[in-house]
Amino acid sequence: MHTAQNLIKGYRRKRIIISLMVALIVLLLTFGLRFISQRDLNQLRIDAYARHAVDSFDKILMPIAGKRHELVSLVGQPCDNVHLPLRKQAAAMQTLRSIALVKSGVLYCSSVFGDRDVVLRQRQLSLPDPQPRLLLATDETLLKNSPILIQWYPASQDGEDGVMLTINIHLLSSLLLEPQEPIIRRVVVSVGHRYYSESQGISDTFRLADDEQMVTRQSELFPFSISVTTPGAGMLALEDLPSQAPLAVILALLLSSVAWIATAGRLSFTREIIHGMAQREFELYCQPQLDTRSQQCTGVEILLRWKNPRLGWISPEVFIPVAERENLIAPLTRYVFVETIRQIDYFPADPQFHISINVASSHFLQGVLLRDVNQYWFTAHPKQQLVLEVTERDSLQGVDYRLVRELHRKGVRLAIDDFGTGNSALSWLEQLRPDILKIDKSFTNAIGTDAVNSTVTDIIISLGQRLNIELVAEGVETPQQAHYLRLHGVHVLQGYLYAKPMPLAEFPHWLAGGTPPPKEHNGHVLPVIL
Ligand code: C2E
Ligand code: CA
Ligand code: CA
Repeated sequence: MHTAQNLIKGYRRKRIIISLMVALIVLLLTFGLRFISQRDLNQLRIDAYARHAVDSFDKILMPIAGKRHELVSLVGQPCDNVHLPLRKQAAAMQTLRSIALVKSGVLYCSSVFGDRDVVLRQRQLSLPDPQPRLLLATDETLLKNSPILIQWYPASQDGEDGVMLTINIHLLSSLLLEPQEPIIRRVVVSVGHRYYSESQGISDTFRLADDEQMVTRQSELFPFSISVTTPGAGMLALEDLPSQAPLAVILALLLSSVAWIATAGRLSFTREIIHGMAQREFELYCQPQLDTRSQQCTGVEILLRWKNPRLGWISPEVFIPVAERENLIAPLTRYVFVETIRQIDYFPADPQFHISINVASSHFLQGVLLRDVNQYWFTAHPKQQLVLEVTERDSLQGVDYRLVRELHRKGVRLAIDDFGTGNSALSWLEQLRPDILKIDKSFTNAIGTDAVNSTVTDIIISLGQRLNIELVAEGVETPQQAHYLRLHGVHVLQGYLYAKPMPLAEFPHWLAGGTPPPKEHNGHVLPVIL
């Protein structure tokens, strides 16, 4: 059986789980999105760096290429004639270290040294060449072993004549190929099968470290490419993630609080009750009351049952107190009125037959109950008499005796439920003038077993008799209790001895005697006759 505490705890647990899930999802999303955007940004930066390096190199080589024809036309002329123009050209282009003219495979004129007589192939194995060439090499003349970039332009068909331009790559690289930690670790220029990096100089191999990735961009104008090595856009983004933690945590806290607040209404027992009413999950049961004098069933008490599709059967002892606390008891009572009227034909259409409905004392406030009785009960003009049972459990303070009078005038009778268990002063009996006192089942139970409580039972009985208030005993389970009560003048009895609460639809069958009396029934009271 569910208890209200358990149910409420269950809802709270669900809300905690939902809020934690929201926090987790927000954390994952924030980190995930930040990771993706940072990774893409890193990738863009890496690409942009490589592209920029290629463009810058192109820009250096372009003016040199622009002078190609002019320089090629100088090949063959005596060095004395062309030395000066060569020096001027070399000086004009800061990145140029020297310009040399080659005739029949012999370097015969240099912008730096003037007249020369060097077999070019001895200096550069792959030169001269019939095709224009770009080469990575080491300087053998001016700055020994320093890395240089050689641009070769042939001036004759056989390629034995031509112009050799020596570019100071070291200067270029310190200007253009500076790595940008942590994104760019190394920048490598590759020409043909040779590589140049600022840290390693010129080499024939280039090895990528295990934790490195490489991005290569090819020049569209010259036969070189530039590669940059990086830890990887993803790895960099991953390293950056801890710095996103404060933002992610704040967002997660914020949204999980929103989830906590938002589920307060939805995931609550209160909401479950409202939903239950809308879905008609509450079923009406009735428990007969028998008059031992006439041996007739003179009425029924309507009792609610709730079969919740998710939680199973829930006792009214659980949901009624929650409904009372959450201001849902009036809507629930209206539901009982409406459903009783809808199924009224299960009961004898006899003005002597009463239907008792439990109401909360808070429902009396501001005449709401009176309005509801008019609207939901009297508009249907039922023949049966209406009894309102207000439990003494609640404080009876809220029950306005003027409203009770008004109800009386309309033929509604008032019963004080669970009499003897509450704390209401006897003066209320005077003011409210109830028609019926229902002796609580704890007192019925005490008969023959508990001396103190059965004394109280006697007192209640004599009080009712003195004030001329009808007495109804509930929770009658044994023939001994029935006998005792009857002997003491309590004639209307309700309890498992006669019938357990049953669905309204089963009542006619029970009334017709279809349900056999309990085995232990000793004949004091016959269960049914009408
Ligand atoms: P109650 O008004 O005192 O109702 C009598 C309770 O005693 C019912 O429990 C009934 O099933 C049980 N009962 C009847 N005969 C016996 C018996 O011989 N032995 C024992 N041990 N119990 C017996 P139930 O149906 O679980 O209802 C519990 C309480 O829930 C009710 O006590 C009433 O206060 C409240 N309740 C039930 N239905 C409604 C309703 O429609 N409106 C309101 N406001 N309260 C309701
Ligand atoms: Ca009752
Ligand atoms: Ca009771």
